[in-house]
Formats: sequence, C-alpha cells, structure tokens
Amino acid sequence: MDNQFRIAVIGSGPAGLYAAEELVRATDADIHVDLIDRLPTPYGLVRYGVAPDHPRIKSVTKSLQKILEHPRIRFLGNVEYGRDLTRTDLDADYHGVIFATGASLDRRLNIPGEDLQGSTSATKFVAWYSGHPDSTGDFSLDATSAVVVGAGNVALDVARILVKAGDALRSTDIPGAVLDHLGVSRVEHVHILCRRGPQFAKFTTKELRELRALDDVDVIVDPSALDGIDETDLDKPTLTNLRVFREFADNRRTGARRTIEFHFSSKPVEILGDAGNTVRAVTVERTDTPATAGTAQTQELSAQLVLRSVGYRGRALPDLPFEAERGIIPNIDGRIINADGGDVSGYYVSGWCKRGPSGVIGTNRIDSAQTVEAVLDDIRSGKLSGDVDLTGDPAWLARHGHTVIDYGGWLYIDAEELDRGSAQGRERTKISDWETLRRIGLARAVTSV
Ligand SMILES: Cc1cc2nc3c(=O)[nH]c(=O)nc-3n(C[C@H](O)[C@H](O)[C@H](O)COP(=O)(O)OP(=O)(O)OC[C@H]3O[C@@H](n4cnc5c(N)ncnc54)[C@H](O)[C@@H]3O)c2cc1C
Repeated sequence: MDNQFRIAVIGSGPAGLYAAEELVRATDADIHVDLIDRLPTPYGLVRYGVAPDHPRIKSVTKSLQKILEHPRIRFLGNVEYGRDLTRTDLDADYHGVIFATGASLDRRLNIPGEDLQGSTSATKFVAWYSGHPDSTGDFSLDATSAVVVGAGNVALDVARILVKAGDALRSTDIPGAVLDHLGVSRVEHVHILCRRGPQFAKFTTKELRELRALDDVDVIVDPSALDGIDETDLDKPTLTNLRVFREFADNRRTGARRTIEFHFSSKPVEILGDAGNTVRAVTVERTDTPATAGTAQTQELSAQLVLRSVGYRGRALPDLPFEAERGIIPNIDGRIINADGGDVSGYYVSGWCKRGPSGVIGTNRIDSAQTVEAVLDDIRSGKLSGDVDLTGDPAWLARHGHTVIDYGGWLYIDAEELDRGSAQGRERTKISDWETLRRIGLARAVTSV
C-alpha cells in the first residue's frame, strides 16, 4: 500500500495520454491514473484539430486507445476542472495532479474591423468542421473570396478545407450538416497572408506539397517574393519549402475554378465592412522582411470571410497560476510554479498548456516524459506521500459518478459514430452536439479500477 499512488491527469489529449502512459510504466511505484476530460470523448485536438482529410495522422488514435485500455488508467469524461472538480477535491483525493488542458483560445490581430460579421478565428472554423460540441459557428460559406491570416499549418488546413469541393471531403468524419455547407461553398479565392517572407513561414513541406494535388485549384505565388533571399544560413526544411514556392511561382494559371494565393511580407491592417457590418475587404500593408514593420504601401483585397490563424493560447484555470503573456501555466520542467518561483507541491503540467502551441503530436510524448520524471522524483523523495484514501472511489467521483462518461461510455459513442458513418458509406460520422454525446455516453455506468 505504501508504494501506491493515485494521480489525476486533467486533459486526455496527446499530452495527457502520454503522461498517463509514462506514469503506469514506472517500475518503482504502483500508480493509478484518473484521466479526466471535460469532453465525453478522448484525444483532444487529434479528434478536434487535426484536419479531417488527414486520416493517416488521425489514426494515431489507434495507439492512443491502447493507453486508455491500461488496467490502471481510467478515463473519466464529461468532467470539467473548475466546474465539476475543484482544487480542493484534487488536493484531497490525489497524491499528485498533471494538467494537460491544451491551449484552446485564439490570439487576436487587434486591428479595426476584426469583429465584423464574417471575421473570426481559424480556431472557430476548425472547431466547426471538426464537430466540436462547443462550436456555435455557422459558416454558411456564401463568401466567394476569403482571407486567411497566418503562416503555419493551421492556416494551410483551413485554406485547403475551404477550396476542397464537397465530394473530396465526403469520405472524412466531418459531421453531416457541416458537409452539406461545405458542399455548396461558393469560395473561389483564398488569400493566405504571411507577415514575413517565405523563408520565415512555418508551413511544413508535406502540407505545402499537398496543395499541388488539389483538384481544380491553382496555387499562386508572386515570383518577386522569392527574389533576393539569402539562402546561406537556411536549414534544409526551409530550403525545400522555398523550392516548392518556386514551383508554385513558375506554374501558369490554368484557369482552375479555385485559387489559393500566398501573399508574403503582407499584414492585414484593417478589415473593412459594408453598410450591414459584414466584411467586404481587407486592407493589407507590405512589411519589411525580416522585420514585420509596415511600409505604408497598402492594397485592398476583396473578401467576405476573414479567418485569423495567428496562434493558440491557454486558458487560465481556477486556483492555478497563469502566465497571461505566453498563455501557459508557469512551470519549471513540468513542476507548476507560483509567482514567487516556488513550486506548487504535487501539481504539474504537460503539453500545450506547459510550453505553448508548438510541435507535433509526438513532441507531447517527450514533454510528458519530462513532466512524469518530475513526478517520479517527487515520489522518490517522499514529497507526494500525502494522506489519500485509496480504498474506494475519490470523494468527488462518488458525488458526480452519475454524470461521468467513462471509457465504456466513449466506446458507445465511438460505435454509434462508426454506425452512422457506415450507413452513409463513410468510415465515421462525428456526433457534434453535447446532448447526443451525453445521452449515448451515459448509457454505461462508471466502473472502478
Ligand atoms: C488545427 C490543428 C491542427 C493540427 N494538426 C496537426 C497535425 O496534422 N499533426 C500533428 O502532429 N499535430 C497537429 N496539431 C497539433 C496537436 O494537435 C497538438 O500538438 C496536441 O493536440 C497538443 O496536445 P495537448 O494534449 O497539449 O492539448 P489538446 O490536444 O488540446 O488536449 C487538451 C485536452 O484537455 C481538455 N481540457 C481542457 N480544459 C479542461 C478542463 N478545464 N477540464 C478537463 N479537461 C479539460 C480538452 O477537452 C482536451 O481534450 C494540430 C493542432 C491544431 C490546433
């Protein structure tokens, strides 16, 4: 009994799952993990961020599922820290807690017109097409011209989804209602605005190359954007990206129905509205590369939809420190720290809420291993030997048990989505509303480990 520990991991995205896996792998302690998520479904942004037309990346859920099936890990979904579960509960019921709550908020451009109708965040657009139950967005896609602001893969994802015709997305897990909207999308031109030159863009080559394969889409780069770039100190991925941009610049327009056009060294300075306060254009200013200062040379791009994709940031959580500027929970190598720099004993952090929104899914494995190492060090040094009753369920769970969706409940949801998909000749159709997710997920009672 002495060597038994109960650890809560809050958030079942990649960081939370990898942390849980590392914890139960420990050989010098017998650790039981409650993996808690506000959603009735596991996998975080793998389910609600990774693009639906990237099934190979999404299939990482197959290996993540194995983690959920470990006998000392139990998934407790539909439980939100700060609403159903407090710091006091965690203090009483667990030896330690790892927060892996991600970075779900978007950053703003802070320019005039940003709140006009038709201007919103890529985060909201992604949540909509991914079928996130919090999504309130209604993207009717009447726009013929869209501006996407950002130079990372999320900007490419949303640009690609905007120009893909309905049929090209029909095999994905996109909810039916969203698919209907995408199927009648009128979007013809997508402008991608990148503040700096092509050598500074954060796109990965694979995602850039994927644009070449889009049906009936011309990808446009102004050749002058590629002039005079000093390649001496550029790394290999950047040089490969430049080669792809050169190919785009060399391509002739084929008269395809849709276009994606990259605008480098270009930043939006104002979003202009019509009399009904709906977006009609974006004023774009040229910047000095490598700096991002404006040059006062502006042009107006006609657009009825503006999606900003300029970064994610974490949300402050009740009773925990928060570093507002970086949008993360302050920490040293995974141990949460207070404003005075001292660690909040027994509290840890991993993933995007630890380091900010960077890296790929696998980066979270390395990140979580570092955090779990801190937990294990603290176990070894006797720091986590608090008085926790391990004989039954934690008190908070005894209180809320009837509303918790466990792994069995998630399997019900999973099966229902697969059934709905197969009825339409698709692999899966996502269920996107809270009520249905809860109704199906709660058909199964919570089981103890
Ligand atoms: C649009 C988009 C596309 C991406 N595409 C790719 C890609 O193609 N390939 C790739 O490698 N990476 C991709 N990524 C990055 C990858 O998704 C992230 O690296 C990873 O998901 C971060 O993991 P995380 O666990 O820190 O956060 P998340 O995946 O966001 O998981 C956080 C979890 O915490 C839960 N949570 C939040 N608050 C609470 C609370 N108060 N109580 C309980 N639970 C809570 C959330 O519901 C969520 O399940 C993409 C990211 C985005 C945004």
